[in-house]
Amino acid sequence: MKHNVILVLLDGLNYQVARHALGHLQAYCAAGRAALYKLDCELPALSRPLYECVLTGVAPIDSGIVHNDVVRLSNQHSIFHYARAAGLCTAAAAYHWISELYNRAPFNAARDRHTEAAELPIQHGHFYYADHYPDSHLFADAESLRLRHSPNFLLVHPMNIDDAGHKHGLDSPQYRNSARAADILLADYLQGWLEAGYQVLVSADHGMNNDRTHNGLLAEEREVPLFVAGSAFSLDGAAQPRQTELCGTVCELLGVPHDKPFCRELLK
Ligand SMILES: [Zn+2]
Repeated sequence: MKHNVILVLLDGLNYQVARHALGHLQAYCAAGRAALYKLDCELPALSRPLYECVLTGVAPIDSGIVHNDVVRLSNQHSIFHYARAAGLCTAAAAYHWISELYNRAPFNAARDRHTEAAELPIQHGHFYYADHYPDSHLFADAESLRLRHSPNFLLVHPMNIDDAGHKHGLDSPQYRNSARAADILLADYLQGWLEAGYQVLVSADHGMNNDRTHNGLLAEEREVPLFVAGSAFSLDGAAQPRQTELCGTVCELLGVPHDKPFCRELLK
């Protein structure tokens, strides 16, 4: 396969809320143009370890990114690395921990917030460092990167759902409404991305619980959605993808060499 890919990581979005609150994505599923799967995130259910898991296919206890305060470059091969090794163009609009994992650590806002660096794994980046940075701005940052650079792989990583969960908890109007708001933002972009030929995956690092946090094995903090849309996906309801297979699956879509597990059943 040789496809361009957009991976949207809706930080902190629990599966059940994704299932009922993302009306636009569910309309694509109902029309047979997308499919929704349920993933159990790897443990611990923490952000930085699971960014690493999603982007490298390596679980936290093996990557060494075992909690959020491990501030160093990843020592694994990420989607960005595989794509660059194949000569593809990479971009990300994401939280600054993504820049720390794959470009430069520690994050230096003046240097790294807006990144244009052909030699780095993430060549084109807009990286934010406040959890309440508006998702609306983050999606616009991502679309700007896409229109300007036509990246083969683009990561889109908004934080407002997780932020609402930490302030109000899983079972709160604020958390649910932040998920609904992200879905409405996606509605502005999804059709254009598909028409431009992108294969689109929408998932989450971890979920959220009623203690306004996440770390462990409760279903609500561990179960996350995976929506897929695009011509390369099987939309096979029997597929059982794992979070550790996202990296390899994206590499298969991109058509670049990799050495990670992937979910064959997700693909045509
Ligand atoms: Zn969080």
